[in-house]
Amino acid sequence: MMNLRLTDLGKRPLQILCLGAHSDDIEIGCGGTILHLIESQPSTHVDWVVFSSSTPRRREALRSAGLFLKGTKSRNITVRSYRDGFFPYVGMKIKEEFERLKRRINPGLVFTHYRHDLHQDHRLLNELTWNTFRDHLILEYEIPKYDGDLGSPNVFSPLKASTCQKKAAFLQEAFRTQASKPWFSNETFLALMRLRGVEGNSPTGFAEAFYGRKVTLQLQ
Ligand SMILES: [Zn+2]
Repeated sequence: MMNLRLTDLGKRPLQILCLGAHSDDIEIGCGGTILHLIESQPSTHVDWVVFSSSTPRRREALRSAGLFLKGTKSRNITVRSYRDGFFPYVGMKIKEEFERLKRRINPGLVFTHYRHDLHQDHRLLNELTWNTFRDHLILEYEIPKYDGDLGSPNVFSPLKASTCQKKAAFLQEAFRTQASKPWFSNETFLALMRLRGVEGNSPTGFAEAFYGRKVTLQLQ
């Protein structure tokens, strides 16, 4: 296994784009890595885009983004209200959102949904991400769910146990409407990060994991 450092992206501060279909997707998928990155590189700029929300879910998304991005000097949070579960049927409007994003930003790293995620909204965002950002580092995150679509990710982000605890605590604090869902628990989030920590040989035992599909070798 080779260790790659995200600091090698040039002299300008790291610019990250986080894309999530629903209010809590980004946090579940890459919240620990975001917390860690911001702690180690506070100059990181984050563009954070959530595509679906109702009024209470929008409030929760904004609250959560505030918690997870607290340490950044620079951030831009967008919460849209496309209908949950219907993204493929309003694909043109969502594609236009991506076109606007492309004109506005040029991120060094993009976090998006997993290509083979079984939720149709997640999959559409994945397709449009690869469609839109053609020369960028894209990492696809995973969301545990009833459908059982977890695979074998190949990029691991080792995390301190305290960071994982903080991620789980922020999720519970921000997304009160999800409290009644049996899967939305600290155990779910910590269990997945513990298993990915095993696979990624994390010194702490914890990690988030992603799918990285392209690597360019500089043979000089
Ligand atoms: Zn989702």
